[in-house]
Amino acid sequence: MICRTTMASLLLSLLVGPPMQAQAAASPETRPSLVIHGGAGTIERDSMSAELEEQYRSAMEGALVAGYAVLDQGGSSLDAVETTIRLLEDSPFFNAGKGAVFTADGTNELDASIMDGSTRQAGAVASVTTLKNPISAARAVMEKSPHVLLVGPGAESFARHLGLEEAEPDYFRTDRRWQQLEERRQRERDASATEPVGGSGFGTVGAVALDSKGRIAAGTSTGGMTFKRHGRVGDSPIIGAGTYADGDCGVSATGHGEFFIRYAVAHDICARADYRGISVAKAAEEVVMQVLVEAGGSGGIIALDGEGRPSLVFNTEGMYRGWIASPDEPHVAIYGDGDPE
Ligand code: ASP
Repeated sequence: MICRTTMASLLLSLLVGPPMQAQAAASPETRPSLVIHGGAGTIERDSMSAELEEQYRSAMEGALVAGYAVLDQGGSSLDAVETTIRLLEDSPFFNAGKGAVFTADGTNELDASIMDGSTRQAGAVASVTTLKNPISAARAVMEKSPHVLLVGPGAESFARHLGLEEAEPDYFRTDRRWQQLEERRQRERDASATEPVGGSGFGTVGAVALDSKGRIAAGTSTGGMTFKRHGRVGDSPIIGAGTYADGDCGVSATGHGEFFIRYAVAHDICARADYRGISVAKAAEEVVMQVLVEAGGSGGIIALDGEGRPSLVFNTEGMYRGWIASPDEPHVAIYGDGDPE
């Protein structure tokens, strides 16, 4: 497949003739770009203390600056995505790694995936309970196995064999997530719950990066949804649903996973942009604000196009999110305002 940027340079070279030798040697580097999310859902200004908001903002800024430093030093988009997501997994504020939400049984089952758009290589793990950083296990599946998705004990023994860091079940537990489970259980007892999960449980993390060689990578990591059934797997480890990347589009999603799987959200955004020649931003807007809204699927996405332009689109009250395109200049936002022009 000829990607859009390749096609554009092909047309340009037909119009202006072959580049001179000196110009060809000095092929300009792409300006790196990184965009992240920390989950979408019912996030309202009134219900957030100034202290908690500050903690979220500084966790996101720290992840953006660290991920961008990888890109700025000439590192790959894959390295930037993994570095960024590992930091968010280690933070107790997000629903990934430490701080993951609980299943109905009171356990933590983690899902993650990563994709390299330049090679279409991908890796994922689902329903893992012992891996400290599921995103690194997903990358190991991509790079060190012939498979794309490993689940449960099989994924865990694969990662253990490679020496990836493990954690005791207690490591993932936070009081805040436990309380959300208790509230959800209470609603269940009151029989007032119509949805299988509570919005307060959102908080999945994701990153999409473009490196100086023009390669896009995307990744997503989550504990899933509060009160999910033991064994339930959402969209986050499903390539094409929660994560997708190709030559000039990368997407990471967050929201009610069943909808994102059924509507193949991440792939649909890149495919619409490609097949119809529309911008990634427009494709993202269509899928999140029309297709998903009509279907009743709440959530959002972050995306980059081949030029590193970010899209941050959500149909919920808020989405923890951030973007960076020059060193030490992270931008973060939480509520329904404050995105890039
Ligand atoms: N999409 C995730 C899942 O369904 C949850 C989330 O993004 O909050 O597992």
